[in-house]
Amino acid sequence: MLMMDLFRSYLHQNRLPLTHQREAIAMALFEAEHHQSVDDLADLLRGRGEHVGKATIYRTLNLLVEAGLARELDFGEGFKRYEHQAGETQHDYLICTSCGKVARFRREAMDRLQADVASELGFAVQSRMLKIYGFCDACAGAESSGQAVGSPASVGAGPETG
Ligand SMILES: [Zn+2]
Repeated sequence: MLMMDLFRSYLHQNRLPLTHQREAIAMALFEAEHHQSVDDLADLLRGRGEHVGKATIYRTLNLLVEAGLARELDFGEGFKRYEHQAGETQHDYLICTSCGKVARFRREAMDRLQADVASELGFAVQSRMLKIYGFCDACAGAESSGQAVGSPASVGAGPETG
């Protein structure tokens, strides 16, 4: 689940542990169709046999908001509600398979391409989540510095190089 990957990455970058409770809370929010209050989530988690204090839920929700994975909503009820940000974000992601760093980006060209492809294939798009896996700058550097760099990219494996 990408949202969970992103949360894990956020915690990692901020040197915070991914506790079982944090994971359960995040998962409950990510799976929820509608916005949830802290009480809603406490009930939901209790139903799953997870006994998590409301203060912990509240703090975890704040982390999710800081990570850009959830949104805080105030309907003037005297308490806040939260909803995950999975569906409406048309962002794309670069994910480092070595350190887990996630870079979020958005390019209009991607949106245009998506619209082109969708209309060509007759498809009504609801959401998009493009994940590009590879190495971030730091990890790519660490990867290549250990190795002897030989002739730059011997592309022509065979005799034909034209
Ligand atoms: Zn990396």
